[in-house]
Amino acid sequence: MFSFRTCGFLLLATFFGLSVQAQQLPFAMDAPTTGATSYDASVPTPESVIGHVIGTRHTLPHQVEWYFRAVADQSDRVQFNVHAQSYEGRNLMHAVVTSPANHARLNEILAMQQRVADDPGSVSDEDLADMPVVLYQGYSVHGNESSGTEAAVLYLYHLAAGQGEWIEDALDNAVIIVDPVMNPDGRDRFADWVNRNRGRVATADGQDLEHNEPWPGGRTNHYWFDLNRDWMVAQHPESRGRLDVFHTWRPHILTDHHEMGGGATFFFQPGIPSRNNPNTPKRNNELTHMIAAFHAKGLDEVGSSYYSEESFDDFFLGKGSAFPDVNGSIGILFEQASSRALIGPTSSGDLHYAHTVMNQYVTSLTTLEAGVSLRNELLSYQRSFYADALDRAESSGKDVWLLDLTQGRTRAQMLTQLLQRHRVQFHELAEEVTIDGTTFAPGDAYVIPADQPQYRLIEAFTERTLVYEDSLFYDVSTWTLPLSHDVDFHVVERGGDRLIGDALAAPVELDGGSLTGGTDGVSYLIRWNRYFAPRAVSRLQDAGVTLRMATKPFTALVDGEEVGFDRGTIIVPIMPRLGPGESADPNVVHSVIQTAIAEDHVEVYSADTGLTPSGPDLGGSSTQVLRPVRVAVAAGLGVSTYAAGESWMVLSERMHKPVSVLSPSRLASADLSDYTVIVLPSGSYNDRAAENLLDWTRRGGTLVLMD
Ligand SMILES: [Zn+2]
Repeated sequence: MFSFRTCGFLLLATFFGLSVQAQQLPFAMDAPTTGATSYDASVPTPESVIGHVIGTRHTLPHQVEWYFRAVADQSDRVQFNVHAQSYEGRNLMHAVVTSPANHARLNEILAMQQRVADDPGSVSDEDLADMPVVLYQGYSVHGNESSGTEAAVLYLYHLAAGQGEWIEDALDNAVIIVDPVMNPDGRDRFADWVNRNRGRVATADGQDLEHNEPWPGGRTNHYWFDLNRDWMVAQHPESRGRLDVFHTWRPHILTDHHEMGGGATFFFQPGIPSRNNPNTPKRNNELTHMIAAFHAKGLDEVGSSYYSEESFDDFFLGKGSAFPDVNGSIGILFEQASSRALIGPTSSGDLHYAHTVMNQYVTSLTTLEAGVSLRNELLSYQRSFYADALDRAESSGKDVWLLDLTQGRTRAQMLTQLLQRHRVQFHELAEEVTIDGTTFAPGDAYVIPADQPQYRLIEAFTERTLVYEDSLFYDVSTWTLPLSHDVDFHVVERGGDRLIGDALAAPVELDGGSLTGGTDGVSYLIRWNRYFAPRAVSRLQDAGVTLRMATKPFTALVDGEEVGFDRGTIIVPIMPRLGPGESADPNVVHSVIQTAIAEDHVEVYSADTGLTPSGPDLGGSSTQVLRPVRVAVAAGLGVSTYAAGESWMVLSERMHKPVSVLSPSRLASADLSDYTVIVLPSGSYNDRAAENLLDWTRRGGTLVLMD
């Protein structure tokens, strides 16, 4: 349809055999203007909104948002949406770009996308002929791999302002989701660093400050998580918002623009042939090859070097380029050699940021060209993907899976919520059943029918794979979600259909909190069997309640009935100890316990008396007073960002604890007596820090080592 031509620094665009001189893009080097003969002057250029020419500075996340909003205000091809907020309060955004005629029928397009998944047999070739291809183009999920986002800004300008037959035809035949900043907190950290450490004239010296971002770097999000490992487990707001967009649109292609080492060139998938996830249909790989031909042609025409198939795999389904492959889509990874700064020193000479942006921009366009050219193949593939999923479910012999709620109800419900984010349908258990020697009554388990569109995804996320065709991986091989949540997951092969009860709403509510017995007991007893039990303990301690913990099993009388409790049970006295002249208010404890049941989902009992039928009494010497926990996490230069970040995130976001983050250098001299628990993630710590920590543990500190 068109081609890029370079002629010295002048790039020409040709299409339908007609050669026209490229309009200059607002860009630090000449870039191809594929398919556009001119630009609509009413659409603002990036420079007019952001204040700099793309490729001359690193664009900050809020500047990208200004630009996307400004274009959407002016262009009837562009709709602007916010799909999440990052931990630091930045917007996660995407533009929906298509022709005005398609914008007028977006609901119809979305409904058809849903029908292709839910009822593929009802979708005819004529239905598909009238449908656009849907592309999800995502940029710079690793915040310090920043060229992708710059390309997204140029790409939006090109799509919104570009004039000419080719681009209008493309917009008629495609709906394009542009997600320009997939990790705004990480990008802000990185872009701020490089911009702030550059003089008027950029240097290519790799020892210079601009080229050496400090710990923790901009790759990860606020809590130092790798968001390109979060597509499956979806623990972070960035991923959760993105998955909602993904599952709403069910794109035919999803692209994921990254950067790699500066000495390399440009990579596009397919990756290493023996490292495709076996749950991915073979046809996916064939289509990936067909799409690759478009990238090759575009990069050839601008004279950029590239490769495919020699590195990167397509196995771990928690990555952006593989996750789409079990969702009826084609995931494509791009890796551009990184300049890291404005000019990067590489083994092949200086690498300019603007050049890296150009390659990302060219492959954004070749993705569009591939999507439009292969529209019939891609739409047919998605329909057959879902039809095949139902056939596979039928031939698998599985009727349903049962997800056990009895071992840790909150964890099991959190896993349910996770799978519901991936559009897995859950039902109540309709009747009692015994599996592997365990009997489940209604309420003890949820039922997942095999006969549903996400059959492949359920298989892929829950299977236990022990044998691999190729046992080498880029990093992660896979996660088995029931194991990661410590939840029992059972298969019912025949006769399982009778177990399928009422459909559960998504997301299920966490409902593990309960109170057995009244409010006139002497103590509350909290079982240590719920994920958020530590948060309930903090909540009570923050209210000034002194707690004890049982170190031996016992039974207690609850409404006159003998009930068994394990070690670890938390004993909550209802009446505080009183000083002279003080009066007790048991309503404080009652009120906090009610909140803990509702929000921490803990299982609470009201003990009639402190005297127990068996085991230690509630005030005995084998019950210990729990000291409030004051926690520090070591984090900083030399420490694993991932391990430190997950400790910080779980304690702060999940357990609502204030956390002191201490650098390894401070550990050497800090007064550690302020802390009861210190988490030491994998890393390097000096001898003075070790001595200080050893001294502190001798005085009773609890040290948690990771890795
Ligand atoms: Zn990356």
